[in-house]
Amino acid sequence: MNKLSSQHRESTIRNLKSGLYDLLVIGGGITGAGIALDAASRGLKTALVEKNDFSFGTSSRSTKLIHGGLRYLKQLEFGLVKEVGSERAVVHRLAPHLVVPEKMLLPLYEKRGFGSLLTSFGLKLYDWLAGVKPEDQRKMLTKSQTHGYEPLLRKDEVKGGAIYAEYRTDDARLTIEIVKTAARYGADVMNYCKVSDFIYDAGKIVGVKAHDEFGSDAFLVKAKSVVSATGPWVDELREIDRSKTGKYLHLTKGIHLVVAFEKLPVRQAIYFDVEDGRMIFAIPRGRTTYIGTTDTNYNGSIDKVDASREDAEYLIRAVNQTFPAVNLVVSDIESSWAGLRPLIHEEGKSASELSRKDEIFLSPSGLISIAGGKLTGYRKMAERVVDLVIANTFEGLDLKNCFTDKIRLVASGFENYTEVKSYRAYIAERVQKLGLNAIYANYLVSNYGKQTDLILNDLRNGDADRELALAELRFTFQHEMAMKPLDFIVRRTGILYFYKNRLAHIKVAVLNEFQRYFRWSTERLQFESETLEMAIQGVTNFR
Ligand code: FAD
Repeated sequence: MNKLSSQHRESTIRNLKSGLYDLLVIGGGITGAGIALDAASRGLKTALVEKNDFSFGTSSRSTKLIHGGLRYLKQLEFGLVKEVGSERAVVHRLAPHLVVPEKMLLPLYEKRGFGSLLTSFGLKLYDWLAGVKPEDQRKMLTKSQTHGYEPLLRKDEVKGGAIYAEYRTDDARLTIEIVKTAARYGADVMNYCKVSDFIYDAGKIVGVKAHDEFGSDAFLVKAKSVVSATGPWVDELREIDRSKTGKYLHLTKGIHLVVAFEKLPVRQAIYFDVEDGRMIFAIPRGRTTYIGTTDTNYNGSIDKVDASREDAEYLIRAVNQTFPAVNLVVSDIESSWAGLRPLIHEEGKSASELSRKDEIFLSPSGLISIAGGKLTGYRKMAERVVDLVIANTFEGLDLKNCFTDKIRLVASGFENYTEVKSYRAYIAERVQKLGLNAIYANYLVSNYGKQTDLILNDLRNGDADRELALAELRFTFQHEMAMKPLDFIVRRTGILYFYKNRLAHIKVAVLNEFQRYFRWSTERLQFESETLEMAIQGVTNFR
């Protein structure tokens, strides 16, 4: 049976209870997933446990860009820009359907931001640091060219612009594909399995105490080394280990809003600065455009992060000031999400000034914690952590060097982006013959790549839209360990964010399929149905 099948959990728990792992990774965000893949592929016996769903934390709440972080040049973070900038092309090569080239428009303003000379130099440096191919390098634009690219921009203030290369992705799908690939290399992976304590022998960690949310007793998982890749929760685990000394996390919140494309019909992704000096993205995506992000200090609950009315109004104001013909109001918002950046505190620095670099903490008990960093740099972060694990615990063993830059993230994936485009054309034909809306061709291929065939082959007779959702759901049961409706509706498909209009049509059928598959009681069905309803209300309920 597939290791990521929702039915495989019993067998994984048996392994977790009985095995002695070389490495146990706590946290199933992109960092933990990347570490598990790196370690398993180098030959370490690896396990990964996640207390909620894979990518539940920051890794499903980002701006969904694989980007070099242009604004970090302003903070003179050349090393960071070089590393993540170069990684963009690598991650694109590993999953070309999921990490897709996207040109970004950067408008320049009369009275604010950098002048065109400085911007031209900055972008040139950005391309050079990241080794961008000549044909993709930045192009400076005149005023009229800029308005040609984006007629919605202010005619009075925009004096020119630039176009430069980035990539867009789906963070949660990228994470799940990395988790799946780690499992392909032998890692035991498990969601809804929380680590509540560490087990010590002579002051050194030799395992953890874990709880399966769907099981009863806590159990021990033995491991020669333990890494906490728990993002915003890193300090919580350092406290349990009594090793939270010195540097500590500084959490900042970032939110995104989603509106129907017609409400903000930008022709392409755009990165604009607003009057307070911050930079904001507006990114068209299918039938929607999303906008983000904010950056404010955060002291609330890490487990439940919401976008406030103030956050939403800030972004709406920024959009309305930038695009005068657009008049967004709060009731235009279809969906939203809010996430936390686990940054490292630096005395006297504001939220936006804090470094985005990752940081590794090594405790006297041997616990290795990693926080900070970017989605984009997950592979290099993983390499550094696994190198450290090997140096600390497995020095002298015959282990491979990191080669995750050669591991495609989807079994039988694409060789290159040209293959993605021709597969998309083939799926477009299949979608049409099956009586599905044409929009699904793009949606399916960007979400699932070549796995789309598995889903379409499983389509049953009936209402085509609903049957498609059910075929996707069965795929995520069998291959992606979907355990709850929100795993499917938020993290496997992005439906709650970008295809909310599908929900009214499919949600009852989805809940019933869950009940059938997991043999839920009527009470459980009722509870999950209410939870789903609350989540649907929550994305537009700004307080
Ligand atoms: P997380 O994704 O938070 O994962 C940590 C996991 O640990 C969670 O799933 C949590 O449930 C689990 N966990 C916690 N405690 C336990 C426990 N006791 N037992 C088991 N599991 C536990 N980066 C980019 O490259 N591009 C972008 O466009 C971008 N945009 C961003 C926008 C915003 C608003 C934010 C906040 C960040 C953005 N980032 C971006 C940064 C990027 O999203 C993060 O660096 C990355 O997702 C962090 O991943 P992680 O795995 O370290 O943490």
